[in-house]
Amino acid sequence: MSFKNVTVAGSGVLGSQIAFQSAFHGFNVCVYDINDDILEKTKETFKKLAEAFKKDLHATQEQIDKAFANLRTTSDLEKAVSEADLLIEAIPENPSIKTAFYQKVSQLAPKKTVFATNTSTLMPSTFAESTGRPKQFLALHFANEIWKHNTAEIMGHPGTDKGVFNSVVAFAKEIGMVALPLHKEQPGYIVNSLLVPLLSAATNLLVNGVADVETIDKTWMVATGAPLGPFGILDVVGITTAYNINKMSAEQTKDPLKIKTVEYLKENFIDKGKLGTATGEGFYKYPNPSYLNKDFLK
Ligand code: NAD
Repeated sequence: MSFKNVTVAGSGVLGSQIAFQSAFHGFNVCVYDINDDILEKTKETFKKLAEAFKKDLHATQEQIDKAFANLRTTSDLEKAVSEADLLIEAIPENPSIKTAFYQKVSQLAPKKTVFATNTSTLMPSTFAESTGRPKQFLALHFANEIWKHNTAEIMGHPGTDKGVFNSVVAFAKEIGMVALPLHKEQPGYIVNSLLVPLLSAATNLLVNGVADVETIDKTWMVATGAPLGPFGILDVVGITTAYNINKMSAEQTKDPLKIKTVEYLKENFIDKGKLGTATGEGFYKYPNPSYLNKDFLK
């Protein structure tokens, strides 16, 4: 099975990037969102993405023009999916919004359409039945700024058809991703299963008063050869995300250390607008964080 027509549902941060990336690589892309005002803003986002593709990937104007020629938008869901070989869902991370969406689109999409969710934290098995085509449903998970951080984690649920899974792996490669197949469902996929415990361990060491930011990062960088330590990574991910993850965990577990971490992040970073590289300051100051100094690792 090979795909030609791709529909992206949800044109926010990730949806707009997935749509542009797919169009750039020659797919015929239709972008769906709930109203035309949002889609007008999405068109502005596409222009910004085009600039980023030129700057970061040295894309030519001809390539950009072709990408735009492959892109259309609509707020009519029936029209959006009428020809779709693959539907990529990138709507809000809210189980009831996603379930309602799948129940509706399952009635409108042709039988051939494969459905993929870009959910970060939910499991495809949660939605498999509401898609009306569980064999043709799986997760295809991208990272923010997909043209640069080009991972595509592909994760089925127990009922996903193997052929469908392989077709989505092939599609991910065709749009310039590094395809990363998972053999079973895993909360956090691979990347966050690795990253969240590392970042959490680093903040625990800091909040517990074991060592300072630079020493913790230096330890990791010297010991493993990694170009960034956990606090350098946290600045890139964004401290708001770390704050939200810790807050959720603190509420669930009532762990005193987690509660202390939430307070620490709020007081020292969130309330001061120091949110990481995006705001120019987080654990380090940008554009010249101290971990780039030639003596940092000594
Ligand atoms: P976002 O809030 O930026 O965008 C969501 C879009 O969905 C909005 O344009 C909204 O108008 C639209 N929408 C709302 N209800 C809809 C509906 N019923 N039908 C169609 N569109 C609808 O969100 P985002 O950050 O792009 O996240 C979208 C999905 O991608 C989530 O599942 C999230 O977990 C996942 N994701 C996000 C990131 C990230 O870094 N932002 C990374 C990987 C995966």
